Amino acid sequence: MKAVFPGTVSASGQPATLGVMGGGQLGRMFVHAAQRLGYFTAVLDPDPHSPAGRVSHHHIQTAYDNSAGLTQLAALCAAITTEFENVPAQALQALATSRPVAPGAAAVAIAQNRIEEKAHFTASAGVAGVTCAPYAVIETPAQLSAVPENLLPGILKTARMGYDGKGQVRVKTAAELAAAWADLKQVPCVLEKLLPLKAECSVIVARGWDGRTVGFAPQYNVHVDGILAVTLAYEGNMPPALAQRAQAATKLIANHIGYVGVLCVEFFVIDDGSTDGALVVNEMAPRPHNSGHYTLDACDVSQFDLQVHAMAGLPLPQPRQHSPAIMLNLLGDVWLDAQGQSRTPDWQAVLALPGTHLHLYGKLEARAGRKMGHLNITGADIASVQVVARQAAAILGLPGLENL
Ligand code: ADP
Ligand code: MG
Repeated sequence: MKAVFPGTVSASGQPATLGVMGGGQLGRMFVHAAQRLGYFTAVLDPDPHSPAGRVSHHHIQTAYDNSAGLTQLAALCAAITTEFENVPAQALQALATSRPVAPGAAAVAIAQNRIEEKAHFTASAGVAGVTCAPYAVIETPAQLSAVPENLLPGILKTARMGYDGKGQVRVKTAAELAAAWADLKQVPCVLEKLLPLKAECSVIVARGWDGRTVGFAPQYNVHVDGILAVTLAYEGNMPPALAQRAQAATKLIANHIGYVGVLCVEFFVIDDGSTDGALVVNEMAPRPHNSGHYTLDACDVSQFDLQVHAMAGLPLPQPRQHSPAIMLNLLGDVWLDAQGQSRTPDWQAVLALPGTHLHLYGKLEARAGRKMGHLNITGADIASVQVVARQAAAILGLPGLENL
């Protein structure tokens, strides 16, 4: 791929423009990173109030599979990426006939279907050295009846469209499993064995068109009610041997499908009786990830910078983390009091704390569980970052730091 350099203007007067499918907060932070380099940006998202659309040079407000919208995006942009995995793979394919698209449709298609995702993890287990939880595919009543007993208790997950714990049901018995699948309207699902989790972590890498891969150290993630609440990003956040294995596995998983762009792989650390525990791969996201937001303030190159570099064919710098960091996710709950009435969080107190970096996504309506922003906390050492994180969490009423 020929690099798309920022600041260039085509013979027809068009400035170098990068495009993104989807206008959520990840798209917004992509737009910020691209614009900082001097690119113009275009966002395709049907929502007129989309967080990324509001800050982009161009906002194409059509459905993701609208051919006029896609044609307009391709006409404007020299390269195109995506910020969510449920963008129709056909749309990416259509764009790829005339423009570089990273990640490609095939990789996104794997990540948007748990059945294909698990097949990919199983296929790459030999090289990556880590596999996923034992599971069974349930697409037919026959497959439901054939589910081996040893997968219970388990978690039934819809193959498509699940996120933040949505589309998941915990089941203990075959009868509960059958009832849960009926409740899910018998859509294609996977049943995963419920594993004894010690911890969860994720690894973000970026792979270029030339196959070169760079990445960040693993993040330690705390989920509350199925949604990421806290990310700990500093040395010693997990056992070094596990951290190394997770990082190596993520690069190999990316290589295995010839991935181009930023990829996040989520892992479980399960209790297998050993001191460290064992790694199990959970799922992957073909884009920057909520657990990588700390990179905006704690690293010399963020996950969004890498997304821009990778898609545009620029060199991929190996990021360097210069500060320990904790990220606290800010869900809509922070804007609601105990009665569900809206309130303004005490930013005065939060922003008076040293090393706090507030990122809000420009969403006008706060709803419980809705991702509204995040707070990064950086400092000179881990202990001081932990102290400030606890103070900020106390002011905002945030969960997830109980075991810190
Ligand atoms: P989502 O797409 O909603 O993030 P995940 O598959 O990552 O779906 O599941 C959400 C959370 O549920 C995980 O982060 C983990 O805490 C828990 N979980 C999922 N699968 C398992 C499992 N097999 N065993 C134990 N906990 C699980
Ligand atoms: Mg997940």
